[in-house]
Amino acid sequence: MIITDTHTHLYSEAFDEDRDAMVQRALEAGVKRFFIPAIDSTYTQSMLDLESNYPENVFLMMGLHPTHVKENYKEELALVEEWLAKRKFYAVGEIGIDLYWDKTFLKQQQEAFVYQIRLAKKYQLPIVIHCRESFDEIFEILEQEKGDGLFGIFHCFTGTLEQAYKAKSYNMKLGIGGVATFKNGKIDQFLDQIDLKHIVLETDSPYLAPVPYRGKRNESAYVLQVLEKLSGIYGMPVEEIAEITTENSKEVFGV
Ligand SMILES: [Zn+2]
Repeated sequence: MIITDTHTHLYSEAFDEDRDAMVQRALEAGVKRFFIPAIDSTYTQSMLDLESNYPENVFLMMGLHPTHVKENYKEELALVEEWLAKRKFYAVGEIGIDLYWDKTFLKQQQEAFVYQIRLAKKYQLPIVIHCRESFDEIFEILEQEKGDGLFGIFHCFTGTLEQAYKAKSYNMKLGIGGVATFKNGKIDQFLDQIDLKHIVLETDSPYLAPVPYRGKRNESAYVLQVLEKLSGIYGMPVEEIAEITTENSKEVFGV
């Protein structure tokens, strides 16, 4: 069984004490593919280190996270562009709009999102979307940028069934993680109406740990809890869900 964690911040400071042991636990649990979203340039070196330590298992993305779109966002975007020109990345992400933490830079977040979508199109890469309290703003931009090589993943999808259909209509797969195991997570109630071919697994570790680890530090091995939840929702064996969602991740990332 090969499980793919399509969204894991393995370079996070939260793992500085035990990173290798944590990765080992995941590998032993069958999680063999880790897709690593970027945040900003302060993490680039740690991402490259991670890749050289686990060249078979780690796949890097490049991008500027919406909560890190600040006064210096133009310089950050220039670095994103420079890196994409210089070497292979598997997606432009995570990118999008976040109105939960701060609305000050909404205009700049929108501009950075569009800019990075166009970079993804240029390099024929998927985008990995971060959306927090911003479905309308995100959909407005996807509507404007649709077709023309737009595809990717709606990471940590927490919307309604209607929003799920809409995301699908823009060639987005839904990244399903710990929230699906929460009592008040809501998405578990309609997920069976979304064909499994539109779903990929993720942890977003160290954030959003699934039940029974909710509130604790998340790690990639815990994607098993998400897998088990989906197995219940779809009435399919865990192995089959792992296989299908890994195939879906290959379709998106091209690897
Ligand atoms: Zn993330």
